[in-house]
Amino acid sequence: MSRQMIVGNWKMNGLRESSRELVAALLAGMPKTGPDVVICPPFTQLALLADSLASTSVGLGAQDCHQDPSGAHTGDISAPMLKELGVSHVILGHSERRQEHGELDETVREKAVAAAKAGLTPIVCVGETNDQRENGDYTDTLGWQIKGSLPDGFCGIVAYEPIWAIGTGLAATEAQIAETMTFLRQELVRQFGEAGKAIKILYGGSVNADNAVAILSIPEVAGALVGGASLKADAFLSIVGAAS
Ligand code: 13P
Repeated sequence: MSRQMIVGNWKMNGLRESSRELVAALLAGMPKTGPDVVICPPFTQLALLADSLASTSVGLGAQDCHQDPSGAHTGDISAPMLKELGVSHVILGHSERRQEHGELDETVREKAVAAAKAGLTPIVCVGETNDQRENGDYTDTLGWQIKGSLPDGFCGIVAYEPIWAIGTGLAATEAQIAETMTFLRQELVRQFGEAGKAIKILYGGSVNADNAVAILSIPEVAGALVGGASLKADAFLSIVGAAS
């Protein structure tokens, strides 16, 4: 089995000093061998952390990019700009962006194309709401998101993040994760054929030091996308330690 991947999504957290301290603590505790680790601080800390992470095994990711390489898009950041800073990965279509910025599958797909063109690995998020889970029609939502958000020839990573599990302390159960992973794999193979078998699927939503071993042991879970617990060095390092 290939190495698992642990991605820390800092969301809108981290001023200069706290970011520097968190990364120093992470680097001090990072195991010599283990999963691939990527941290995704806010845009404002990317340049600073690119320096701290240079010549370490920890990768640097961003939390979004624009679909165009440059142009009149006030407040936006393009994929080539991220690449120039030393960024390797970019989270796209996170539910917070879909909800707060009205991002549609089509936009996410265009962003994934732009990211790949710039040499970044897109991490495309999909996930259902609580209502969709309870109504039992969550597979429709996930199916549409996979179909709409992933471009032809996609060779990035998918993150399954049920919206109801994000920041709630209520991770999906192992059975729910296992069943949904199987569904997502089926959709990926339907869309991409043989290549769909190789796409990594991460789980995200209230992953913490206590549940990481169980979640990361589920077949098909290629790693975790971690929010709140990525802001605490001890918790994040425990999750890294739980991965293989
Ligand atoms: P939490 O780990 O805080 O639930 O956040 C998950 C997430 O949204 C990561 O992208």
